[in-house]
Formats: sequence, structure tokens, C-alpha cells
Amino acid sequence: MKPWIGVTAGSQTGSADLEGVWLAGDYTDAVVAAGGVPVILPLGAAVRLEPADWFARVDGLLLTGGVDLDPVFFGEEPRRGLGEVCPERDRLETALVEEALMRDMPVLAICRGMQVMNAVAGGTLIQDLATEWRGSLLHRQRAPRWYGTHGVDVTPGSKLAEILGEESIRVNSFHHQGIKEVAPGMRVAARSGDGLIEAIESARHRFAIGVQWHPENMWRKDAVQRRLFEAFVRAAAGFASGGK
Ligand code: MN
Repeated sequence: MKPWIGVTAGSQTGSADLEGVWLAGDYTDAVVAAGGVPVILPLGAAVRLEPADWFARVDGLLLTGGVDLDPVFFGEEPRRGLGEVCPERDRLETALVEEALMRDMPVLAICRGMQVMNAVAGGTLIQDLATEWRGSLLHRQRAPRWYGTHGVDVTPGSKLAEILGEESIRVNSFHHQGIKEVAPGMRVAARSGDGLIEAIESARHRFAIGVQWHPENMWRKDAVQRRLFEAFVRAAAGFASGGK
């Protein structure tokens, strides 16, 4: 049986009759291509649902990209460079990832998702690279989304290195926040040339990996990025067939 993958989404605001869920199709396409069945977890439903309601059926959690995490989740006041925050999304995603890690359910956390996972596990974030980071690399590329514009060194011996089969890759970059302190129990799995943490992974979970780049935009053209989704869906299938 194909594993069910819960995929978080953002909110679309506008006139009242257009408010709802917003999610880039590349995320769900990547899950399908890797052999999973995506299930979108809408923000509004979180008013009446608990993570356990979804996790009774779902076998893996995909945390997607989006707006900034409220710094209250890592013990800071908002500073000048902080962007838009979405309290409902923060509340839902922090609850989901906490419960998923507790169950040792596979988690793939992309961009904002990695930042949420790190904060929930006890780490901190750089609120804005432009004002709080000394590195000189461009992390908000103006190039096609599928195109890797900066290099990252994948940590030798990490689970990520094992999955990707490479220790030096090119990734796309669409972020203005980053990881400051890695959470206890997590470790650095990749860095860019300016020293910024570009991936983390849990040392004590079967699959809890976060990447700062957007593999969902790259997998169609880049077999290395496809392996990340395939490994995630495989881990979710393993969880479904015995780990629960
Ligand atoms: Mn980057």
C-alpha cells in the first residue's frame, strides 16, 4: 500500500469568498512521483482537529515552505527584518511536528518547515539574513526555481549524504531566514559556502530531515533531489507497515 503523506499548506487571503488553502503543486507532485499519496492538511481544520486525528491515517509529515515563524517560538522578540507571520499556521505546524517526532513518524521539512522543526526541537533562527548574518552569498535567487544557484557541502557520514549519494551539490535558494543554533538532538547535515546551515537531521529519529532549499522545484530535472522524496516516502511506508 502506498503511504499517506500529510502536507501542510499556507492560507490564501483575499476577498471572503476566495479565502482558503494555498499550496504549490510541486510539493504534492513530488510526493506522488515518489510513490506516496499526498493529503493536504488545511489550516482552518486545525480549529477542530488535533494532530492525532490526522496521524491515525497519515504515515509521514511534509512541512512546506511559507512565511516567517513567529520568533516567540524560539524565545525572541520580533526584530526589524522579520517578515509576515501567520499565527494559525505556526500553531498547527508546531503541534504537528511535535507529535510526529514523538511518534517517530518520518518528517521531511522544507525551508520554513526546517525552521519550524528546529525551533520546536529547541533551536533558534536568524530572523533576517540581511540584518543578522555576515555571509555574502545570495540566498534569494532571481533565477528559475528549478535552478541551483549556490553550492552546499553535505556533511560526510550524515543520513542526508547517504540518501543523496553526493557530498557537494547545487541548490536553489529562496529564503531570508536561517538556522542560528541547531536544536539539541539535531545536527548539521549541509552548509553553504558562507557557513550558513542549509540542512539538519535528527540523530535519534528514523527520518527527520530538514532542508533550506526547495527540492520540490528541482526533482523533475535533478535526480539527486528526487532521491530525497523517494527516501522519505520509503521511510513513511516502513512506518505504515510496522512502525506505528
Ligand atoms: Mn540558501
